[in-house]
Amino acid sequence: MKKTIDLIENLKAQGVELSLSGEKVQFKGPPDALGSEAIAEMQKHKADLIDYLRLQSVEHIRIEKRGSGDFTQTYRPCRISEVAGNEPARKVIAKAFNENRIPHSFLFHGLSGTGKTTMARIIEMGLNCKEGPTCEPCCDCSYCLSIINRKGNLAIREINAVEKNKDELRGILQELDAYGFGGRFEGNRRSVFLVDECHGLTQDQAQLFLKHLEDVQEDNFFIFCTTEFEKMLPALRDRCIFQIEFGRVPAKDILRLLRGICFQEQIEPDDEVLRKIAEESRGKPRVAVRELQQVDYAGKLRRRTMQE
Ligand SMILES: [Zn+2]
Repeated sequence: MKKTIDLIENLKAQGVELSLSGEKVQFKGPPDALGSEAIAEMQKHKADLIDYLRLQSVEHIRIEKRGSGDFTQTYRPCRISEVAGNEPARKVIAKAFNENRIPHSFLFHGLSGTGKTTMARIIEMGLNCKEGPTCEPCCDCSYCLSIINRKGNLAIREINAVEKNKDELRGILQELDAYGFGGRFEGNRRSVFLVDECHGLTQDQAQLFLKHLEDVQEDNFFIFCTTEFEKMLPALRDRCIFQIEFGRVPAKDILRLLRGICFQEQIEPDDEVLRKIAEESRGKPRVAVRELQQVDYAGKLRRRTMQE
């Protein structure tokens, strides 16, 4: 791809602009600027050239593929710039990281499938990434990988207060109570406790978190997520410094995400199909990404080959 970019830059310097019309590369500029050598180079890198021009011309979210599995896993955003929609949440969190004034307690509430847990994991990575604290973690260091792969890093504790076996949850909370959170995990800079579906905490459990929030240790961070804001213990709810509501993601933002995945997957970004998927997902990126994979499996999308 670098050669293609050099080629385009060279031509630009000579006053030639390249653009894409369907599958054809079009030129605009002085007629003698394109020598036979440049034309031969362009032929050689045609597939890359088309890719590059398309990337330039279509608005999309730049998202990387990570790990293996279904699209919903491999294209789970790892950086704040990869998140579709929820702009107010992205802005306030990015600002906190950029100013290095990160609150110790977050509360994310709203519909399921709108990105609360994804955002919580970006914060977990951002706090512990070797390049952090940053809201654009590297997604490649041992801390980031342990969060992406869900294993290895004990500094991150995630519980689902509704699904979790109550005895197991009680055990975790007893540990938290007995040792304090930060003190338990040596060698890690920051400890993060993510409580998903936190409305499922009992009164006593919520009180225990409240106790820790009232006297939070410097390296401890708590992220509470819930689909049922009203059912939370009000005192715990009010104690969270950042209370952020997650809403349905606009179809235009989901479309940008789907286009980004298509580029990575060498799929022709057929906007008619993608738009329909985006609209039918009713504001839930995860639903749209799953549907994109199903449509792809069904052979309804055209895959590009590099020989084109
Ligand atoms: Zn990292």
